[in-house]
Amino acid sequence: MRAITYQAVEEVRVQDVPEPAVQDPTDVVIRVTLAAICGSDLHLYHGRIPGLVPGYVLGHEYVGVVQEVGPQVRTLVPGDRVTGAFNPACGACGPCRRGQYNLCPNGGVLGYGLAFGNLGGTQAEYARIPFADTTLRKVPDHVTDEQAIFTGDVLTTAYGAVKNSGLVPGETVAVIGAGPVGLMAVQSARVRGAGRVIAVDLIPERLELAERLGAVPINAAAANPVSRVLSLTGGDGADVVVEAVGGTKTILMAFDLVRPGGRVMAVGITSEETLEYPLMASLSKDVTFRIGVANVVRDIDETLSLVAAGRIDPTAVVSHRLPLAEVPDGYRLFAERKILKALVVPD
Ligand code: NAD
Ligand code: ZN
Repeated sequence: MRAITYQAVEEVRVQDVPEPAVQDPTDVVIRVTLAAICGSDLHLYHGRIPGLVPGYVLGHEYVGVVQEVGPQVRTLVPGDRVTGAFNPACGACGPCRRGQYNLCPNGGVLGYGLAFGNLGGTQAEYARIPFADTTLRKVPDHVTDEQAIFTGDVLTTAYGAVKNSGLVPGETVAVIGAGPVGLMAVQSARVRGAGRVIAVDLIPERLELAERLGAVPINAAAANPVSRVLSLTGGDGADVVVEAVGGTKTILMAFDLVRPGGRVMAVGITSEETLEYPLMASLSKDVTFRIGVANVVRDIDETLSLVAAGRIDPTAVVSHRLPLAEVPDGYRLFAERKILKALVVPD
């Protein structure tokens, strides 16, 4: 089959690779009908994540049709249209039984290299999905592939961060980064009752879209986001700040934007080992800081329902639809921030 493979830093290509097959009895193999390039793939592309070898198949966002099911799969049959979590979970271990599917030691991240479970990726004609009963969801008939794909990662990541913040209706949410995840955080905050949502980015077009989705835009290249947020909140700061960029600078910015007693929810992925923690500011402001990989299996049913009901429109961020042959160029343009969100159509 044809797939997008990692070759070297900033080099991916379309390659013929062996088709995946059911390996474990709880696996499903899907024929991928839609995949996507994610901001998380950029970290791989730039060589910031260890454990990638040439020829490794990339991609972790997907919608597909069940092709083959393992003998222990109970809820799916060939022909089912499915989407699912970028991070499969076994459903049976201690963390899974506690609902912390993102901490499953038996899972990993699809298409994220040897350090994340060595699972093949979905930017391909076929993909193997482990622990299918836990990881996958049938897509409701009236939800399109283009809507559904966001529930497996980008939307549910953002939604989960807002949910984990304990947002109280009426509160102000500031979102740093208006990429696909940040724009989903804007919509998630609104749907969960935020009074006001503020979006901070450096790219005017992304901020315009954030504004259309209901946020007050702040261009951090043109204005000081800290003084803007303080003046928008009567000097308090935001109740909740969602960091959706990745890296220490924007996490530190979040500590400046949050109000005393507020919550900083970081979802951006970073390869930095440590952060110089703003201990004194955090102490004097009594800030709650949380960072983690998204608990997609926990929240995907909620986001699928919200999308099905038309309460959230994730397709607002789709800017490109690429056949596999155009994906290597797509990575380059995405890295140059000339693409907001590229979907990948494998056939
Ligand atoms: P993206 O790269 O498309 O978007 C990032 C946005 O941040 C861009 O619009 C960029 O202009 C903006 N930005 C960069 N520097 C900035 C700054 N200093 N101030 C304000 N804005 C700035 O990525 P995405 O797909 O939207 O994902 C966002 C982050 O979330 C990535 O790091 C991604 O890896 C991560 N992510 C994490 C999880 C998880 O489970 N924790 C899941 C999905 C994605
Ligand atoms: Zn992703």
